[in-house]
Amino acid sequence: MKYIREAFDSNWIAPVGLNISEFENELEAYLQGVKGVALSSGTAAIHLALIQLGVKHGDSVICQSNTHNASANPITYLGANPIFIDSEPNTWNLDPELLEQAIKAEIIKGKKPKAIIVVHLYGMPALLSEILTIAQRYEIPVLEDAAEALGSQINGKMCGTFGNFGVLSFNGNKIITTSGGGALVCHSEQDKQKTVFLSTQARDHAPHYQHTEIGYNYRMSNVVAGIGRGQMEVLSDRILQRRAHFNYYKEYLADLPYLSFLDEPKTHYSNRWLTTILTPSFEMREQIRLALEAQNIESRPLWKPMHLQPVFANNIAYTNGVSEDLFNRGLCLPSGSNLNKSQLDSVVETIRGLRNEI
Ligand SMILES: *Cc1c(COP(=O)(O)O)cnc(C)c1O
Repeated sequence: MKYIREAFDSNWIAPVGLNISEFENELEAYLQGVKGVALSSGTAAIHLALIQLGVKHGDSVICQSNTHNASANPITYLGANPIFIDSEPNTWNLDPELLEQAIKAEIIKGKKPKAIIVVHLYGMPALLSEILTIAQRYEIPVLEDAAEALGSQINGKMCGTFGNFGVLSFNGNKIITTSGGGALVCHSEQDKQKTVFLSTQARDHAPHYQHTEIGYNYRMSNVVAGIGRGQMEVLSDRILQRRAHFNYYKEYLADLPYLSFLDEPKTHYSNRWLTTILTPSFEMREQIRLALEAQNIESRPLWKPMHLQPVFANNIAYTNGVSEDLFNRGLCLPSGSNLNKSQLDSVVETIRGLRNEI
């Protein structure tokens, strides 16, 4: 409220102002060694990254299939075609082997993909070192969708800072929120300035409004950036709370042999944005989900992969069955940062209550 009031008191109720630059400074300090541009959404950040990677009409862009549709939609805004790639079972993210097969096959067809979009789903970092090695081998830039993974790390380095561009989201459901908002992470002042330029209608330097490029109205508002500044002060707490929820669920459910949790590979640190479980079958997943619903507890199946979405039915996909299986058997448990012990206990008890039926 203090930062929002400052925006009003200084009368910068606009997509310019001190809150925006300070929010960006705080993000840059947190992520270390990168530049950040505050935008109106994570989706906008993906769109502007793809533009800067030179994606044009008719191009193809590789995208992790197991994700939120916002990872893929901006590809289509540019008239380009997403090629979907399935997941590996260790992090549920882009499968490096399948990625390389896909790149080779697409190159043989005469169409080298313009970019690779990799996602850190539910906050769990992807197998990035393998993926970056392949991307370098074929000289294809990487866009890291870290919308769900602010604060997640690989070997102590922040997710979102590995790729040519990184994307963050501050939508209402993310680990910190500005109500709606996002950021593009980049690696040079030049890329930062270009992103600001594109996000503010691409105005040339002139006293009048002059344009030599198509622009977008994607800048974050100074009021909203005030929320972001307040949220940066609690981000570390939020991550600890989410990780504590995961540990609590695991501790009190791990003896049920039919449930499994997604553990972190040794090099990985997940912000545990959402706690997810895997059940033995679609039927048991539904049994658990409906039992929770009967207690007025909302849970949700995992993301339905993009290659199974009707809207992408005609897109090329390289699949191995992993993300479809996760979709059928997996469930996101209540994970909000402010859940208290008795709420966590209700979830645990409801699931444990089914153990004789399952
Ligand atoms: C939320 C989300 C986005 C989009 O971010 P918005 O700020 O909602 O536009 C993109 N990718 C993933 C994986 C997300 O979860």
